[in-house]
Amino acid sequence: MLRHLIYKIKATGPITVAEYMKEVLTNPAKGYYVYRDMLGEKGDFITSPEISQIFGELLGIWFISEWMATGKNAAFQLVELGPGRGTLTGDILRVFSQLGSVLKNCDISIHLVEVSEKLSEIQALTLTEEKIPLERSAGSPVCMRGVTKAGIPISWYRDLQDVPKGYSFYLAHEFFDVLPVHKFQKTPQGWREVLIDIDPQVSDKLRFVLAPGVTPAEVFIQRDEMRDHVEVCPEAGVIIQELSQRIALTGGAALIADYGHEGTKTDTFRGFCGHKLHDVLTAPGTADLTADVDFSYLRRMAGGQVASLGPIKQQMFLKNMGIDVRLKVLLDKSDEPARQQLLQGYDMIMNPQKMGERFNFFALLPHQRLHGRSHPMDACQSKPSVSPVAGFGELTWR
Ligand code: SAH
Repeated sequence: MLRHLIYKIKATGPITVAEYMKEVLTNPAKGYYVYRDMLGEKGDFITSPEISQIFGELLGIWFISEWMATGKNAAFQLVELGPGRGTLTGDILRVFSQLGSVLKNCDISIHLVEVSEKLSEIQALTLTEEKIPLERSAGSPVCMRGVTKAGIPISWYRDLQDVPKGYSFYLAHEFFDVLPVHKFQKTPQGWREVLIDIDPQVSDKLRFVLAPGVTPAEVFIQRDEMRDHVEVCPEAGVIIQELSQRIALTGGAALIADYGHEGTKTDTFRGFCGHKLHDVLTAPGTADLTADVDFSYLRRMAGGQVASLGPIKQQMFLKNMGIDVRLKVLLDKSDEPARQQLLQGYDMIMNPQKMGERFNFFALLPHQRLHGRSHPMDACQSKPSVSPVAGFGELTWR
């Protein structure tokens, strides 16, 4: 990967950080995400669904609660962006099965948007019924099709654009933070983009430089920006606009969970290898690269087409979803050492010093979901009847 990047820079000149991230993470031949399983204790980082089954179960409840609150549509698609090992969708599907009596007449299908061939194979192993062979079609927008263990149709795509535009619930957990960012530094001459170049002292080393003049991505910086260093992620904007259009048109919701800020942080671009921080320019392709999600930018990109809720801290969201009740039920059913594992997992995802405050939940919903325009007015009240959105308030079943 380093050699490939050096050739590229020699041919075209210094590259943007976004181009660097895209090449390093998703280059079809050598990208970090494309051919390896980086998740879990033996990998480079671990995520909440890999730590505790309760995480995915509560998200499953969230989707059912939204489906009920919006009139129990006859069918819905569950669409996950960047599904990793498939663990999260697996935990959600278990809840759907357990609540089969509630969902019994609903036609559900699963749609996974995944750039990595290796991870798509792992997702298929986790989620599909082995006895029914997968249909594969490399050149087509649907790269793979199968049936889940519970008999639900499941399809894989490389791009959200290719997912059918039906009534859908979208899920993105630790997905937006891997999308490529452009970095800018304020200088006396104005904003200058941070680029990556070859170190003139050491021929196989990369270094950051500043662009000598204005670069196109500068249009993404807010006019009244007060910080002196910013990161912008146009790809995240495109995806949020696509999700917003879809939700405004057909209903449903998107639930996004990630680490991030409200347009306040500056330099958050970093690498992870073997659960340790890793210099982003050293041995590219061997470490995960990530940048915090700017939720204020996501909200702006939703552009009023849909309503947004959050970001709210993971700890608060999961508490509102009833994590303590679910933990108790599981503890009562388990023996040691499973009890210890459940408690450790709970601590990891809930503790404010660990993942509880670092991760946030953010949702996109049709405007009428919050203002009740599509629901009949309650005869005795002057206000429309809308139930609170679970997680962002306490979970209530109607
Ligand atoms: N959601 C999972 C995995 C997070 S890692 C979890 O929480 O455990 C990021 C995931 O996004 C991986 O599955 C990776 O292959 C995928 N990914 C990265 N860039 C992508 C892109 N541009 N399009 C689709 N998937 C992508």
